[in-house]
Amino acid sequence: MADPTGDTEKPRRLGRRQVLGMVGAVTGVALVGGCSDDEPSASASPSATEPSSRPPTRTATPTPSPPPTPTPVAFDASEAYAVVEHLAGQVGPREAASAAFDEAAAYVQARFEALGYTVVQTDVAVPAGDSWGVPVGSGTSQNVIADPPGFAAAAPHVVIGAHLDTVAAAPGAEDNASGVGVMLDLARMAAAEPPALPVRFIAFGAEEPRGRGDSMHHFGSQAYVRELPATQRSAVVAMVSLDRVGVAAASVPLATGGTGTTQVVDALSAASDQAGVPSDRSQDNRASDHWSFEKAGIPSARVGSVPYPGYHSAGDVPGVVDPAQLGRVGVVVWTWLTGL
Ligand SMILES: [Zn+2]
Repeated sequence: MADPTGDTEKPRRLGRRQVLGMVGAVTGVALVGGCSDDEPSASASPSATEPSSRPPTRTATPTPSPPPTPTPVAFDASEAYAVVEHLAGQVGPREAASAAFDEAAAYVQARFEALGYTVVQTDVAVPAGDSWGVPVGSGTSQNVIADPPGFAAAAPHVVIGAHLDTVAAAPGAEDNASGVGVMLDLARMAAAEPPALPVRFIAFGAEEPRGRGDSMHHFGSQAYVRELPATQRSAVVAMVSLDRVGVAAASVPLATGGTGTTQVVDALSAASDQAGVPSDRSQDNRASDHWSFEKAGIPSARVGSVPYPGYHSAGDVPGVVDPAQLGRVGVVVWTWLTGL
């Protein structure tokens, strides 16, 4: 964050290992104790078939195993980066209505399901248009919606989203496999250590523009908000869009669209301070799925948007993504989420 105050008490910049350690401290230790399957039974006694002539032994009590080390969940940037490598390096460009997008959606659905989420894909109609200089036809994209066990959409919850599509020419490592990778690891953490407020995770289809103007982009999130029943809309306590979150930077960009409540961005900013990760909320923008929610009066914010040369081009390859930045973003969002 730029520090116009000249405050000498700036947060220390922490290495990833330290930050992860802090997350452990922040989230607490839920996994106390552990499996007792390997423990000797309390009723264990010398076998009745043991020869009676056997002398008394002092070895009846086996050396106890050391207690299991508690393992608080921590964000795993290497897992998030592996998603970037898969989507950008293996699947490649995944324009919203393409077969490659369908492949990416199936991959994300399988990843969520492996974590125990209930997943649906909802269709999103997209018009023909211009995908950053490349003509594209009309078709159907999908939102991939993942709910934890017992989820009730009309009860208070959080939505964390990341768009899965790319412009036609770009493999989309930063834009936006980075956001999808962070989202999937947050989903892993939330499954292991459920936050107080349940989280619905959404990989949005068709975020990228197919022409100019508000009606020609963010199709997946606009459709999601439009189709939400009023009772479910009011149940969304906060929405966060993870979009372009991996290019190395001195801070984590935080933004709103500039027209609604700042409560989500305020809380994210506080969480970044708490986690010791610098953040920068100086640049509001409407260029991601948070804007669809903000327009509907739902508290929302965007994380990410560091400029980079490969933007919307064939140069948006995994090498532009810095795992350490993914880690900083993951820590900030998890700290925010677990503080709600
Ligand atoms: Zn994007």
